[in-house]
Amino acid sequence: MPIAHPFDDDKLREECGVFGVVGLKDAANFVALGLHALQHRGQEAGGIVCHHPEHGFNNARRFGYVRDNFTKESLMSTLPGPLAIGHVRYSTAGSKGQTAIRDVQPFFGEFSMGGAAIAHNGNITNADSLRRELIERGSIFQSSSDSECIIHLMARSLQRTIPERMEDALRRVEGAFSVVAMTRTKLIGVRDPLGVRPLVLGKLAEGWVLSSETCALDIIGAEFIREIKPGEMVVITAENGVESHFPFRPQPSKFCIFEHVYFSRPDSSYGGRSVYETRRQIGVELARENPVDADLVCAVPDSGTPAAIGYSQESGIPFAMGIVRNQYMGRTFIEPTEQIRNMGVRLKLNVNRALIEGKRVILVDDSVVRGTTSRKIKEMILDAGAKEVHFRIASPPTAWPCFYGVDTPEREKLLAATMNEDQMAEHLAVDSLKFISLDGLYRAVGEPEGRNKKCPQYCDACFSGEYPVRPADMIAKGFELKAAE
Ligand code: SF4
Repeated sequence: MPIAHPFDDDKLREECGVFGVVGLKDAANFVALGLHALQHRGQEAGGIVCHHPEHGFNNARRFGYVRDNFTKESLMSTLPGPLAIGHVRYSTAGSKGQTAIRDVQPFFGEFSMGGAAIAHNGNITNADSLRRELIERGSIFQSSSDSECIIHLMARSLQRTIPERMEDALRRVEGAFSVVAMTRTKLIGVRDPLGVRPLVLGKLAEGWVLSSETCALDIIGAEFIREIKPGEMVVITAENGVESHFPFRPQPSKFCIFEHVYFSRPDSSYGGRSVYETRRQIGVELARENPVDADLVCAVPDSGTPAAIGYSQESGIPFAMGIVRNQYMGRTFIEPTEQIRNMGVRLKLNVNRALIEGKRVILVDDSVVRGTTSRKIKEMILDAGAKEVHFRIASPPTAWPCFYGVDTPEREKLLAATMNEDQMAEHLAVDSLKFISLDGLYRAVGEPEGRNKKCPQYCDACFSGEYPVRPADMIAKGFELKAAE
């Protein structure tokens, strides 16, 4: 299993990626490639379920990277057929950091009308109460995953077909879900009514593809057709193509704004614009809102790079690769010793001393979560002889946890939950620290008027504390919502 590195503890982590293919020979091979392109959305484990008209359903679930498992002929030859779905996972509710193989998706259920498998990206905010209710009524859970509730709800539905049962089940579910599912003949994609997590549709030759992000369509040479709409269910067969339904009550869209900032790959696109371009524009807004006199703009690589380029372009201060990332660190130390662990950030990032020495440096990072990494990076820059260090952050202060499929520390551990901007600057001991405003972020993602306070155009709960779906399970456990203003 890939190691949990200290550097990664200080970032929000996307918890899942989903991919599905129908109508292509050996669909599982395409799914493996797609999951490989989505590996940034989850590195703990991955799984594929496929169906072949003669061999029926088959599946494989493995810990670790896609490339270490789903490239082996010995495994892939056990996954035949023209229909397959897959899932990569970081870790979801129930077994954070201690994934058991039974928690690895896709989940499979055998119903009277045939089998079905589902892969879920997101988080069900009423999973605890659903689970209790289902167990009381006789369901036997195999995993600790919230996503398994969907299979049990489908099993209890009285509807005739699997897509109808899935609609029925998902109407009971609250929270965020982008689901890719399959029957013997159908590939199914569903997005929750708010469209919190992404899901896109592509086409390759005679086949159809569903993916969390467009970058995974590119890797298999599929053409991007469109995004699945919030609240939409598509049922796809090789013969009849795409049928679209809207089974939920329509609601204003609340796509996760953090997908633009950090989670998605920069070569993916949403709403017709590349994530890279949006991040560059965030840097432009950041420079307009928070100028500072300095000699160099450097990125905390890799996710801070597009915003740093935008900041440099807008401010006229040269961009330089003052910090270099060691791309292969993750695979270097399988079982790091305590001494190596203590080297922390230095294992992943190195300062380009020749560029930094004697300079006033603006460091652009995508976010500050606990602040532990920011502090270490600042020390590295000062050790390399920088005269001043100014942090510019390409997202507003992260002051609230996410309950919609992203791993966040508890609220008390978020630096911005207990300190204002000046206190954080003092805590990190930097010459200045500034965050982009919420309005600035909205402008950068293509909303020229900024955030609509009455009905925000995106989910931004981790910044604003305004949760578009009530996190029922967490409230029952004592989580306190922000007091009304
Ligand atoms: S709370 Fe933040 S990370 Fe979670 S879905 Fe909303 S914007 Fe995205």
